[in-house]
Amino acid sequence: MDIAACRLRLTDHLDEFADEYAPTFQGAGTLTQQLEQLSKVKALLWEHGFAQWGWPERVGGSGGPAMLRAMVGEEIVARDLVVAGFFSMTETLAPTLIEFASPDVAARFVPRILSGSEMWCQGFSEPNAGSDLASLSCRAVPDEDGWVINGQKLWTSLSQFSQRCLLLARTGTPESRHRGITAFFLDMDTPGITVRPVAIMSGNAEFAEVFFDDVAVPDARRLGEVDGGWSVAMTLLPFERSTAFWHRTAFLWSRLDRIVADDPKDDRAAYLIGEAFTALHALRSRSLATLQRLDRGETLGPETSIDKVLMATAEQKVFDVARTLFPGLMETGDDADAQQWRDEFLYSRAATIYGGTGEIQRNIIARRLLDLGDER
Ligand SMILES: Cc1cc2nc3c(=O)[nH]c(=O)nc-3n(C[C@H](O)[C@H](O)[C@H](O)COP(=O)(O)OP(=O)(O)OC[C@H]3O[C@@H](n4cnc5c(N)ncnc54)[C@H](O)[C@@H]3O)c2cc1C
Repeated sequence: MDIAACRLRLTDHLDEFADEYAPTFQGAGTLTQQLEQLSKVKALLWEHGFAQWGWPERVGGSGGPAMLRAMVGEEIVARDLVVAGFFSMTETLAPTLIEFASPDVAARFVPRILSGSEMWCQGFSEPNAGSDLASLSCRAVPDEDGWVINGQKLWTSLSQFSQRCLLLARTGTPESRHRGITAFFLDMDTPGITVRPVAIMSGNAEFAEVFFDDVAVPDARRLGEVDGGWSVAMTLLPFERSTAFWHRTAFLWSRLDRIVADDPKDDRAAYLIGEAFTALHALRSRSLATLQRLDRGETLGPETSIDKVLMATAEQKVFDVARTLFPGLMETGDDADAQQWRDEFLYSRAATIYGGTGEIQRNIIARRLLDLGDER
């Protein structure tokens, strides 16, 4: 598979159809505009056969290595056609379905995610179970028709716009921790589900609380074994740190390019831009190595915590540099460009929280990679 030749085909296509792919709004746009744009771009890529690249043929893809789909996301994100994080949600949910759903279920649902006809969300975190995910208490109890779910999720990104949710629920005793959790995927319009949007710092209601009151789920919607949900979660997280990070790196490069293009008149500019460049280069090098391991069929594990630390460091560095070199832009700027810088700066603070906090990643690196003993 010649990735460079594929890239050329894609970039030629994006140039030719630039008007069709372009957003119809200035700057960051509203959340609704961003999501409409996301669906449009995914549908166009699907229609022209690019969304299929790098996905297995048995789920509607056209095959090829994961690097191929990482490259597609890189080009789309670098052109600012979509919000990087929204585009990359496919990269965690689809591989999980491919791995754990029955072949016919995966073949039915994965194309809907790839083509943008459906949005999915990830219901893991709860009010008392974030870093300590193994303590989650949203409960699934078996009945004669399948399962009945009661409980609450929190910080469920884009759940108010999603058709389906990949959910972790307690099926063992409260003490069973990671051994008593089962994964399901359910329809968000099932009776008993209430979604209450929560705003992030920028004001966008990007995630939500989700409440489950006697929600009936057929057993066919179970992913993996009963009480085997921990391996579903552990499969999903490393995916977030391979192809999805490649996309995010492209987004960060594009922002560093903007800083350079704006030619900041500040004596510190060369030094600060150099620091951000170095952080991004370290991230991209590491991310490339991770993608190559994925394509060799290696299992990604705790070592991807290093990728997460590098990503969060680089993201915050790029936006800190922008804030220093363009004083007042983020605090008081009132045009669409300033609004976008402000939203993205604020979002960069979340990079050390979502997908596992900075402290948790460092604990994993210390304990599992450096063998420095447990947290005590
Ligand atoms: C933008 C964004 C999007 C998100 N999207 C989703 C989503 O779609 N689905 C979903 O399920 N979740 C989502 N989350 C939630 C995210 O996974 C959690 O916020 C994260 O796991 C941390 O959990 P918490 O917020 O409960 O913080 P806590 O776990 O309560 O942590 C609070 C603080 O204590 C520190 N801490 C906790 N335990 C330890 C320890 N053992 N050692 C050292 N320090 C510790 C943490 O590092 C943190 O600083 C999202 C979060 C954000 C910010």
